[in-house]
Amino acid sequence: MTTIGRFAPSPTGVLHLGNLRTALASWLSARAAGGRWIVRMEDVDGPRCHRDLGEAQLRDLAALGLESDVPVLWQSERAAAYRAALDALHTAGRLYPCACSRKDLQKLASAPHAEDGLRPYPGRCRERVWEGFDRALRFRLPEGEVAWSDCLLGPQTDDPARLTGDPLLFRRDGCFAYHLAVGVDDGAQGVTEVVRGADLRAVTATQIRLQEALGLPRPAYAHLGLVAALDGSRLGKRDGALGLAALAAQGVTTPELLGWLGWSLGCLDRPEPCAARDLIPAFGWARVPQGEVRIPAAWA
Ligand code: GLU
Repeated sequence: MTTIGRFAPSPTGVLHLGNLRTALASWLSARAAGGRWIVRMEDVDGPRCHRDLGEAQLRDLAALGLESDVPVLWQSERAAAYRAALDALHTAGRLYPCACSRKDLQKLASAPHAEDGLRPYPGRCRERVWEGFDRALRFRLPEGEVAWSDCLLGPQTDDPARLTGDPLLFRRDGCFAYHLAVGVDDGAQGVTEVVRGADLRAVTATQIRLQEALGLPRPAYAHLGLVAALDGSRLGKRDGALGLAALAAQGVTTPELLGWLGWSLGCLDRPEPCAARDLIPAFGWARVPQGEVRIPAAWA
């Protein structure tokens, strides 16, 4: 089976060092396996996403030597596919309308169990009768834990009800939700390998349950440690900090950046300037460190 890896950013800001590291890791993993690599723009969340930010992200990736092997798929153009998936889930009795407001959800959230700030939906609307497709819609998770394996973290067992609860697939404002779009498109694009940040590890079991309900194959997963600022805080995509342009303004060249990224992924003994393709032979999940990475002090 040909490996098909993907990088799927949301065009809500500049790709920061953590995003670039994830992009490179997914590219290296696909290339090292002799497979294909694709970029998908996850712009379903209408108001927060902008086409020009996505185009800028694609230019930054290209500057690193990372280009999609197929035309970039923009999720904002995929409404028909998402609608068809909702139809299928409804026919299978897996959707229910949710009338909870944001305020209700804040009150109901069983925060003590939350991982990564996730607040599992407690299922308050589970018994509501179907009212049509113009309501907020949730996916009814089946009971039980999900066993899955992470290329980097090893075997995992999660109870999606405890981590996310029934995920929202369609919003009252007419937007399709991330969990639906990601599952439908990984399936439609034949993705066999999902490499992404550790902040999404906790939603994987939920996404696996949704793939199963849609009859889609399960890709392999790898969740990379995040890149943190020197004080340990998370880098944010929207503040534009430490993207390619900010680093270039500090005099960091693209080969230097790639050298640091490659070193942080276990491909090099020390950060020395290189091209992305130079890293392919040395890439292997067994050599990628699991934990969080701090940005170099000189770049802070
Ligand atoms: N679009 C998501 C993000 O930018 C990533 C989705 C994924 O890799 O599954 O955070």
